[in-house]
Amino acid sequence: MTDSNTNDSVSKPSNFLRQIIESDLSKGTYAQRLWAGQPSIGTLHALGQPDPAKIRTRFPPEPNGYLHIGHAKSICLNFGLAQDYNGVCHLRFDDTNPEKEDQSFVDAIEDTVKWLGFDWQAFDTTHRFQASDYFETMHSAALYLIEQGLAYVDEQTSEDMRNNRGDFSKPGVNSPFRDRSVAANLARFAQMRAGDLPDGAAVVRAKIDMASPNINMRDPAIYRIRHAHHHHTGDTWCIYPMYTFAHPIEDALENITHSICTLEFEDQRPFYDWLLDRLSAGGIVNSPPPKQYEFARLNLTYVVTSKRKLAQLVVDNHVTGWDDPRMPTIVGLRRRGYTPEALRLFTDRIGVSKSDSWIDYATLEGSLRDTLDTSAARAMAVLDPIRLHIENWSELMGENALDTCTAPVHPHHPERGERTFMCGADLWIERGDYEQAPAKGYFRLFPGNKVRLKYGHVVECTGANYNAAGDIEQVNVRLVPDTKSGTPGASAIKVKGVITWVGDSDAVSAPVRLYDRLFQEAQPDAGGRDFIAALNPNSLLTVQAKLEPSLAHATAGSNYQFERLGYFVADHIDSTLGAPVFNRSVGLKDTWASK
Ligand code: ATP
Ligand code: MG
Repeated sequence: MTDSNTNDSVSKPSNFLRQIIESDLSKGTYAQRLWAGQPSIGTLHALGQPDPAKIRTRFPPEPNGYLHIGHAKSICLNFGLAQDYNGVCHLRFDDTNPEKEDQSFVDAIEDTVKWLGFDWQAFDTTHRFQASDYFETMHSAALYLIEQGLAYVDEQTSEDMRNNRGDFSKPGVNSPFRDRSVAANLARFAQMRAGDLPDGAAVVRAKIDMASPNINMRDPAIYRIRHAHHHHTGDTWCIYPMYTFAHPIEDALENITHSICTLEFEDQRPFYDWLLDRLSAGGIVNSPPPKQYEFARLNLTYVVTSKRKLAQLVVDNHVTGWDDPRMPTIVGLRRRGYTPEALRLFTDRIGVSKSDSWIDYATLEGSLRDTLDTSAARAMAVLDPIRLHIENWSELMGENALDTCTAPVHPHHPERGERTFMCGADLWIERGDYEQAPAKGYFRLFPGNKVRLKYGHVVECTGANYNAAGDIEQVNVRLVPDTKSGTPGASAIKVKGVITWVGDSDAVSAPVRLYDRLFQEAQPDAGGRDFIAALNPNSLLTVQAKLEPSLAHATAGSNYQFERLGYFVADHIDSTLGAPVFNRSVGLKDTWASK
């Protein structure tokens, strides 16, 4: 392909959205459209310049909670398409609902989008918008519809309105207020705006078709009364637009070309088109108006992705907060050790489709492993420590002698240098690396067997010391001379087992949090079930670990591979206390596949 409108889109797998965009670009669907330099009504855009953006998409969160992994899919999709096709993606706060929204969520959302690696700055302007800035235009649009005989003020009780809407098998019944004169509607709408009517006393409805097979076309409400303070517009308004009316107008004022949303909005599309066709004919919005396209939302196994359910986990203290490392929120995933690269790779791998499906949590974990494998520094740690004593250390090396061992920071990046740590007579190893009477095929420590201490010597096991209760207190070995890793002849002795260890002389003792999946069931909230009952009681185990000295000054958020154990991250929050606390991000292998 030699299309000059595309950057690196050629290398990405196609999908139905890319095909639609490429077709629009080749047909020039939006090529003649003008842009006033900022969101504007149609007649102002008509005085503007050719739109420098080939396409415009948008990510429109409602600032009423923290973003989760499902939002990451939408962010990567919308910002990614804009990048690939020389367009721009608008960050738009959909703040048309006065009651649930808050500035702190606005800040957190901006932070998250940036952290994921995206930006709303393009063509020398910022593209961060706020739907409540359009209230005046939305009000004018409602006035326009009333003047055209396309909307009316309905004062039925909400119960009558519900009953008269009909259902799938029964057409609706016209409201007795449906044929009011334009003048009467305008007068009543003015009273609504002036605050003369209480909440719920009247709504403005589009006048479409009460017998439409699509219930969303049976005179949908477009404005309602809410005497409520809005976090951005204060007390200016006591009437607020309904989402289904507001959203298409927001898209159109911003010159959006492709308005991409999740499948549950499919039935709203006829109203989206109905509304924008009429408003563009009236010059209120630009032509041609945007089009809505639906894709399947992300459903991820072993998590819930509804803000309401996530809030319940926080409020009822099932987790420590929105950023608990077990939460599927972006702030939680980040504290768990997820990187922007891993989340972007995940969204690339799952792609977009038009039918709902469940993505296995293992796909998310696989994306993290695959990105960290090439980047994370290596370190040794012992999570379930037991003492290892080298009986002939003093004899061979000298009383209290310490031997310096070295290992690469990353095995494929010699330029990242080496780490050093000390071997002495006493070390820490994993309790599971010793068996008194092992099963066949066990190659680690048991009496008479030889193993290599990774980056150190070969040792031969002589047995173990037990306490009065019969628990192992110490494993004993003898060092085999001239076998140190990296020295000539070190590999003369062949061993089948290599174990990781931390020296007692320079070990850092630190808590490590072993996180596991938050839910035991793949679809914890399927079919309206009580998802709280599906919580995994073992989703957090804190152990007191021994870490190699290079980890003493790990900075918050840095990722490591603890050799043989998995990927761990220095905790953002607790590492500020002075001592590192590590969170397990993911194991080296998918252990759930075999559960
Ligand atoms: P929730 O259902 O968790 O409350 P929401 O859809 O109400 O989420 P919004 O703030 O309205 O949250 O969402 C902003 C954007 O993110 C919307 O365009 C929405 O389609 C998209 N989005 C939300 N959840 C998902 C998901 N699971 N998969 C893909 N996109 C999603
Ligand atoms: Mg929503």
